[in-house]
Amino acid sequence: MAVRSTATKIPTQHHIKAMHLKDIYLKVLQSDGISRARLKDEMHLSFPSVSALVDELISRGVLYEEGTQESVRRGRPSILLQVNPDALTVPVVNMTRDGYQYCLYDCCGRALKEGFLPYPDKPKSLLEKWHPDEEMICKPIQLLISGFREHYNMRELVLSVPGSVNVRGVLTSSALQITMPEKFLQRLEEMIQMPIAMVNNSDAEAYAEQFFQPLPEDYVYIHVGKGVGAGIIRNGRILDSGPMRAGEIGHICIDYNGRSCPCGNRGCLERYIDVSQLNQEAAQLLQRNTVEFTDICQALEQENPQIVEMLREKARLLSVGISNMMAMQPVYHVILGGGIEQLGERFLEMLRKAIKAYGFRKYMNRLTITYTANTSGSGALGAMWNYLHHQMKIEKLFNMEE
Ligand SMILES: [Zn+2]
Repeated sequence: MAVRSTATKIPTQHHIKAMHLKDIYLKVLQSDGISRARLKDEMHLSFPSVSALVDELISRGVLYEEGTQESVRRGRPSILLQVNPDALTVPVVNMTRDGYQYCLYDCCGRALKEGFLPYPDKPKSLLEKWHPDEEMICKPIQLLISGFREHYNMRELVLSVPGSVNVRGVLTSSALQITMPEKFLQRLEEMIQMPIAMVNNSDAEAYAEQFFQPLPEDYVYIHVGKGVGAGIIRNGRILDSGPMRAGEIGHICIDYNGRSCPCGNRGCLERYIDVSQLNQEAAQLLQRNTVEFTDICQALEQENPQIVEMLREKARLLSVGISNMMAMQPVYHVILGGGIEQLGERFLEMLRKAIKAYGFRKYMNRLTITYTANTSGSGALGAMWNYLHHQMKIEKLFNMEE
């Protein structure tokens, strides 16, 4: 096994410059306009150093200046720096269970365009494996990107997937029931002729949440929709747990003799509390052929005793799943989203009650649980901001490496 050398962790002049360039970009982005003098104070660098970095960002079209020397002399606010929204367009493609959800953002984080493309020939059943070849899965993304390329200045694609890409480049996703050939990412990069920044869907949804409600630096977002997954935020950042990411709460076992799961395990939480499972069980209880999730919400509102009992049991199971997760990754603020939030306060009450009764007391006693406040309905915003904050290498994208 290769041992990582610590020597590579010592920052070189090049790393320091890249860090400062990114820092300036983010500070300008987060301000309504900021002067070079203010940047100098905030960054604790000399004025000539800040100015040289700013000049480079201006020459590459990333920043521009507003105001004139004249206004400075007349005692008006000095020349302020702004991010040029046209410097870069960030395409985000989110692979959901049913297709590609896409959104284009400008370099100031504003949405320009969005849409959805269904997968070609994907089996409807969740238990049926899907074996698309590279061509089938990559082609729609390639066509999408080449269509946008004429009008937008794109240099990198942000790809959000319900799963992870392992060290061999294989995309593994129980949500998609997908078996992808090795080097899927490499092939896609060749086809769209640009690099890809990856993020997991639940991680992206977790990251997005901070833009919709005040949150502590550490929290976990649990997606309970078609499938169950979690995104963990530590110190304000998506938890980096390596290529096989942490957060697969849907596959935490709550009964080792339980229902079999496509992941190969038995008794996975997802097989009891995901939305399609709830619909199926409610249909049986209510003796109907099919039940939509909105019917369950309505039945709960009307205090239907069978539905109330079913959801009370689901709250207990979810509480056990959360407790198991906390034993390994204690995070005291849990946000529920992905569709389950439509059950409203009544279900949250059941869950809070269950949390007081089931699970590892040391952690569960400290737990706060709320619903998502994300009104955008997707994690695209989180994928984009995570990219701008943490993944985007400004010096590489704008050739400022020297
Ligand atoms: Zn499973």
